[in-house]
Amino acid sequence: MPAPAPDLLPPWSTPERQTILAEARAFATDVVLPTANAHDRDEAAMPAELLQKLAEHGYFGITVPKKYGGLGLGVFEYCMIAEELGRGWMSAASLIARAQGLATTFADPERTERSRRRSARGEWIGAAAFSEPESGSDLGSIETIAVRDGDGYLISGTKRWCGNAFEGDFILVMCRIVEPDGTRGPVETFVLEKARNSFPIGVTGSPIDKIGYNGIVSYDLELRDVRVTDADIAEPFGFSGAEGRGFRAVENGLNVARVHTAARAVGLARAAVEDSISYLQKRVQFGQPLGDFQALRFEIADMAAQVAQARAFYQQVAHLMDSGIGCEREAAMTKLLSTEMCVDVTGRALQLHGGNGYTRDFPIERYWRDARLTTIFEGTSEIQKKIISDRILPRVAR
Ligand SMILES: Cc1cc2nc3c(=O)[nH]c(=O)nc-3n(C[C@H](O)[C@H](O)[C@H](O)COP(=O)(O)OP(=O)(O)OC[C@H]3O[C@@H](n4cnc5c(N)ncnc54)[C@H](O)[C@@H]3O)c2cc1C
Repeated sequence: MPAPAPDLLPPWSTPERQTILAEARAFATDVVLPTANAHDRDEAAMPAELLQKLAEHGYFGITVPKKYGGLGLGVFEYCMIAEELGRGWMSAASLIARAQGLATTFADPERTERSRRRSARGEWIGAAAFSEPESGSDLGSIETIAVRDGDGYLISGTKRWCGNAFEGDFILVMCRIVEPDGTRGPVETFVLEKARNSFPIGVTGSPIDKIGYNGIVSYDLELRDVRVTDADIAEPFGFSGAEGRGFRAVENGLNVARVHTAARAVGLARAAVEDSISYLQKRVQFGQPLGDFQALRFEIADMAAQVAQARAFYQQVAHLMDSGIGCEREAAMTKLLSTEMCVDVTGRALQLHGGNGYTRDFPIERYWRDARLTTIFEGTSEIQKKIISDRILPRVAR
């Protein structure tokens, strides 16, 4: 049988990008996927050796400028690598987003420089405590407060879904400033720096019993009078792709997170297609491999086309971002389409595996469980639709 045609190279492909892609693909195949297959069912944090290897490849500092020891690459390369890691284990592709200069922009330039260098080395991997039991899509309604007290603040409140809170090097807490007289001020993000495998003083947490997204433990957190100062306030997102390309950090950080999620979803869906191809070639029914049945061949063709389409879109949006073009609407569009595609494709892949798809003997069940999350976190599909429609369908004044 002739070897399958190699993937076509897109026009934005460069020799450097091809090398980065090949390295990430080899790493995902040789290290990430076997680790996921061995440890996903532990329902524990991913092994420290995997973090170490991710750090050695520089994957925690892809977008950290070279002057801080990072790879100094853009959103395009960040997403391309995330797709490859996501093909192996979505949680690994997610964990790298907890670095990349996250929470490294402080008022103190020395602290900024120190934390950026740590971020590049994979020694500043954090947790984002934004969501609360009563505030998910509507983060403007958060109730965690930082009450001014002397020359600092005392943070109190309840957070939900805080992934990596115990395992990480810091927790980035979003809360509302409140003056001693009860006046409510702006929302700020404070960094609680800490040792790995501990909670900061004043914080307690308990793991949430999830159905997937293993390898990252998500916590309910209680914060009681956690002392912080103005020096602990940090801009949540570090870089707008490569430095100096001119976006406001927060806005662009959210957009980057959406494109990164689209890339993770493409990686996960690709895993489902690749595993299905291999399964259909091996499994024989009615005296022939399943892969010879036209209906199933067309199913694979359809799924593969959807994956290729979603990849082309996220790469286009990443390229626009790296070119300094604001594309909030497109970032929401690619997140929406990729993640919905991922749910669809992984479900169809499970079906192609028949009864075996409904077991834990094949990784397809992990892809299917993890895919289900992609339309929920980083802003649900409905919230992406809200962002898109608010930008293209102005409400008529009444
Ligand atoms: C496994 C996992 C990991 C997570 N990790 C983190 C983390 O590390 N840090 C963190 O801060 N958060 C994290 N989250 C939280 C995640 O961001 C929220 O779950 C998500 O934003 C949705 O919020 P919610 O769950 O409160 O749903 P809700 O906001 O209550 O929404 C419920 C439903 O209503 C819909 N809806 C809400 N508002 C509207 C509207 N205006 N119009 C139409 N439909 C609407 C939603 O789309 C959804 O279908 C995580 C969540 C999960 C499940």
